[in-house]
Amino acid sequence: MTTTTMTNAQAASMTSFDCPLCQCSGELLLKELADGQRISSLVSDVVYCRGCEMGFTIPILSEAELSEAYPSEYTCYSTKENPLLLVAKKYRLARECTFVSHCHPGAKDLFEIGVGAGEFLQAAKEKGWHVAGVEPSEHGRNTTQGLTGITVQSGYASQFEFKQKYDVVAIRHALEHVLAPDLLIEKIMKDGLRPGGLIYIKVPRFDSWELNIMGKFWHGLDVPRHRYHFSSTGLKKMLERAGFSNVQVHDDIVPNDIARFLPYWFREKGRLGIKISAWLVTPLPRLLAYAFGTLVAYCLAPLGAGRMVLTGAKPIERSDSSSSRARI
Ligand SMILES: [Zn+2]
Repeated sequence: MTTTTMTNAQAASMTSFDCPLCQCSGELLLKELADGQRISSLVSDVVYCRGCEMGFTIPILSEAELSEAYPSEYTCYSTKENPLLLVAKKYRLARECTFVSHCHPGAKDLFEIGVGAGEFLQAAKEKGWHVAGVEPSEHGRNTTQGLTGITVQSGYASQFEFKQKYDVVAIRHALEHVLAPDLLIEKIMKDGLRPGGLIYIKVPRFDSWELNIMGKFWHGLDVPRHRYHFSSTGLKKMLERAGFSNVQVHDDIVPNDIARFLPYWFREKGRLGIKISAWLVTPLPRLLAYAFGTLVAYCLAPLGAGRMVLTGAKPIERSDSSSSRARI
């Protein structure tokens, strides 16, 4: 399988189901999906590529064409939250930092690609790490600066350049938004990590029970913003092709996508359904949905949690014996 960037001419000559990563013909899996968050009017299909063992969204849009789907109120740029859910979010972020520390005990600095509102960077900074990152949204960069005092780089994942190498590069719910995830992973290997460094990736999991049960109402699809829909095997292979060693897949158990299922489902059930859907996102039902979602997520995790974390290590070169090493 080749991992090359498509030219416009190549893109024009492809059939609509051709995989943008390996150019194999894919199979239409989900048809005519509206934007679940009702942000854009774009309608998308999801196609599965057997070669890459993952899905992709069509049509394949440029960054400019997709920009209407990323308003400043997009969830990842918002720090507003129900106070109780905010406590839960802070707990999860602190636990995430502990997990990364455990994977790479010697890590001193971390770079995040797609920082959103900067909440993970802030949690990592509180842990004592030197942190940096890149974010295409001006609103996201400003929110991050207000929260952390850190000025992050401006740019899309496909365009920015690393200014130095880091112990950890994190991509949390950003890789599925990127035009060429294979090239980004190769760039992290080559320019972003010191030998022995850790790549830390968090994405929705396509081979999960959540997709099987919720189908087109699964929030993990989040089309048109999610360009790719990674399975655990597909993403593991992508990391290994880039040279990462000891690649491991971990369950990431969160209630968010389960809590969003019922409002999405009811919205399609006529006028009464729309009213129920609107009620379900008010504070108390939302809190109860998160509690219920947490219970269901833990019970059904053995069938494939709705989200996953992948970690991998950049091999240590013989000449670089002073580097600290990821323990994964
Ligand atoms: Zn493919």
